Amino acid sequence: MKLYKTIIEASIEAANTCSEWKLASGGDATFNKDELFEVAGLYDVTSPNESDVTYYCVFPDGEIAIANTETKIYSSIFLPSNQTPSSSTAVSPEEEISSDDQIRFCEKCGSPVSPDAHYCEKCGMRIR
Ligand SMILES: [Zn+2]
Repeated sequence: MKLYKTIIEASIEAANTCSEWKLASGGDATFNKDELFEVAGLYDVTSPNESDVTYYCVFPDGEIAIANTETKIYSSIFLPSNQTPSSSTAVSPEEEISSDDQIRFCEKCGSPVSPDAHYCEKCGMRIR
């Protein structure tokens, strides 16, 4: 994902993949490309991007978010108008390991057996 120092640059990129946006914070207002640039311009003025770790980024569907490269937290600013608003999304660098990965199968009959089982519930085969 490309990162931008100003929301205007991000908006120009987003305009390649989307033609209508709404505010991620809610509301019925929608913005076309020109209106997006206008609102984004105000955003750049009222919210100077002072930190070295915050950037604007554009998702493939045209969503514009502010990203903190240190905390990996993305906060949506503009969403494609057909997308449901979502609250800030925390992207964890390491996904939790699903407990499904621990499911084993009986060597004899192939039934799934729980990780702490010593014998197959179906056929009684000892589980190693
Ligand atoms: Zn079995």
